[in-house]
Amino acid sequence: MLTNLFTPKAVAVVGASQSPDKVGHSILKNIIDLGFEGQVYPVNPKSTEILGKKCYPDISALPDGVDLVVISIPAKFVPQVIEECGKKHIGSAVVISAGFKEVGREGKDLERRLENAAIMSGVRVLGPNCVGFINTSNKLNASFAADCPEPGDIAVISQSGAMCTSIIDWSLKHHIGFSKLISIGNKADLDEEILIESLGEDKDTNVIVGYLEDIKNGPHFIRTAEKVTRNKPIILIKAGTTAAGASAASSHTGSIAGAQMAYECAFHSSGVMQAPSLEALFDYAQVFAYQPLPKSDRVAIVTNAGGLGIMATDAIENAGLQFAKPSEATVEKLKSFLSPAANVHNPFDILGDARAETYGKAVETALADDGIDSLVVLLSPQTMTEAGNAASEIVKAAKKFNKPVVASFVGARRVAEGIEVLQKNRIPHYATPERAVGAINVLVDYTKWRSAPRKVIKRFSVNSTKVDRVINLNKKRKFTNIGEQDSKSILSAYGFTVPVCHLSRSVDDAVSAASAIGYPVVMKIVSPDIVHKSDAGGVKVGLKGPSEVADAFELMMTRIKARCPDARLHGVLVQEMVMEGREIIIGMTRDPQFGPMLMFGLGGIYVEVLKDVSFQLAPITAEAALQMIVGTKTYNLLKGVRGEKSADMHLVAECIQRISQLSMDFPTIQELDINPLKVSSELSRAVAVDARVRIL
Ligand code: ADP
Ligand code: MG
Repeated sequence: MLTNLFTPKAVAVVGASQSPDKVGHSILKNIIDLGFEGQVYPVNPKSTEILGKKCYPDISALPDGVDLVVISIPAKFVPQVIEECGKKHIGSAVVISAGFKEVGREGKDLERRLENAAIMSGVRVLGPNCVGFINTSNKLNASFAADCPEPGDIAVISQSGAMCTSIIDWSLKHHIGFSKLISIGNKADLDEEILIESLGEDKDTNVIVGYLEDIKNGPHFIRTAEKVTRNKPIILIKAGTTAAGASAASSHTGSIAGAQMAYECAFHSSGVMQAPSLEALFDYAQVFAYQPLPKSDRVAIVTNAGGLGIMATDAIENAGLQFAKPSEATVEKLKSFLSPAANVHNPFDILGDARAETYGKAVETALADDGIDSLVVLLSPQTMTEAGNAASEIVKAAKKFNKPVVASFVGARRVAEGIEVLQKNRIPHYATPERAVGAINVLVDYTKWRSAPRKVIKRFSVNSTKVDRVINLNKKRKFTNIGEQDSKSILSAYGFTVPVCHLSRSVDDAVSAASAIGYPVVMKIVSPDIVHKSDAGGVKVGLKGPSEVADAFELMMTRIKARCPDARLHGVLVQEMVMEGREIIIGMTRDPQFGPMLMFGLGGIYVEVLKDVSFQLAPITAEAALQMIVGTKTYNLLKGVRGEKSADMHLVAECIQRISQLSMDFPTIQELDINPLKVSSELSRAVAVDARVRIL
């Protein structure tokens, strides 16, 4: 926990100013105004007193016991001030000043000097180029934000300073409180990972939300986030992702995967929830801050309008949540006080003329049912509706149980009072039924993540020496694209089945290889310059006899020489034809930020067109590998259509895990794909009929 930073005994403001239009003035004023209980010292050589506080000329003149300095002076003086802080044993600093790496080369150099000063002096630095932070628990507003949020359970970290001020403004209207609001700026020293770790230990914080544009160290972030999310939810917006880098990749996996996907995988594997919008970020944050986690995923609805009930029902279905079935006792109880026209089965429709008291009773009855884990309460402002009172009754009933309740009072003017009552009493309110259900959905997802067993990565026994040898041989020849045959040797060393294969350099050679292998055979061109063999007319399948093999050899050689005159031709592979099975792709592309990203999907030549693929980061568990398969349409193909036998999903998952292990073991492998892997249900085997590997 960054105690010095967030709970200092005394704070100094370097660059404090008498002039109200200076940032240094706002910071000092904010600290004093919110009522920080420790000492506050302005530092400015040109003043003796600012805002009634004695002013000091420099850091060395300060009294002992200062733990934090907030710095707002021209950028070029900042590194030196940090060094002085170190000499004075001041543990932390917030650098508000801009003019660092965001302004180009010179700024970049200056930021490096700041970073060095922080490391050498042992001062932990937040910023530079940030708004500062607010800690509501000790009333420390070390920022120049115009307002201060209410205290609460949510901590915010933001890479955008302006976002912080917008969030504060918005939160004040919706009665959402924060434990800490931290603007991280350029992250010269303290970055999202350290702050998230620290907030994970912060007793005032129950939910961590963040706006991030980039992540400094991918694998570290994943490890820390995974630890923190076991105790506290983390919800992040990741902005500014581009597909740069993906276009440089040559294989299938590379052209499909992009940076956005890597972030999604990283968040998924560490239990971080990704919010698609600012709206969703706070939709989720509120429900986590105000409501308990559900026992399971059975959801019920109380509504005074059929239409709203149907919309929520659809949302529950779409989210894959369970629609709760009320017990006999619940149905009887509801019948006892609702009119005969009401629906006493989920969604509980208490009808348009429902009074506030009926809302209370219906909510209480639903929550008392053991078969209902969470509740969505909907209201439409009809003639008889008293939204404010209904909200109070809902609040009263909800307080008697430890189950999540969310609400959506649909409208604006006539429901405003009700919404206010709900928000003040920590019942999350959403403008639409879908958003209310969406909030329950993330609660359920997170509950599942928390209760999931710790990750176990299975290791297979493999022949890594052989892989080493193949890779080194290709490196020596300066081949970065390893051809089909060598790629398959690598795969077979990692436990894959590959078809019998022979490299032939003449017609006679090809014919005798084919008869040794057994007909039918497949023939493929071998050239370090041809990556996609079929595109060049370099694949012939189903060759049934010596004359077909001889013709194919001649044809392939002449055709390819005509189409790709510059390609080096090493010969033709004669290969066992794998008759059985459906074609899938398993691939890997190494993300510069997060490491090996695994891909699974429909194989063959339509990969890029159909894009039925899923991604996960290595190392992968057996469960996650299965999840990758289940998440695609290819899964249904593998399961078998119209009476076909299902493929062995565990076998396919094992193939994904083996690729995961290979890519963890050999960082030099940049990309790899097996396309296709032919998976046979009848023979319960998977054969890699084509493969390619790209190394550094
Ligand atoms: P490329 O992807 O370079 O065009 P492949 O080796 O993947 O070449 O061959 C193209 C297609 O030919 C495959 O998608 C597969 O359908 C079929 N094929 C290739 N090798 C075999 C084989 N040994 N057995 C059965 N079918 C094969
Ligand atoms: Mg292929």
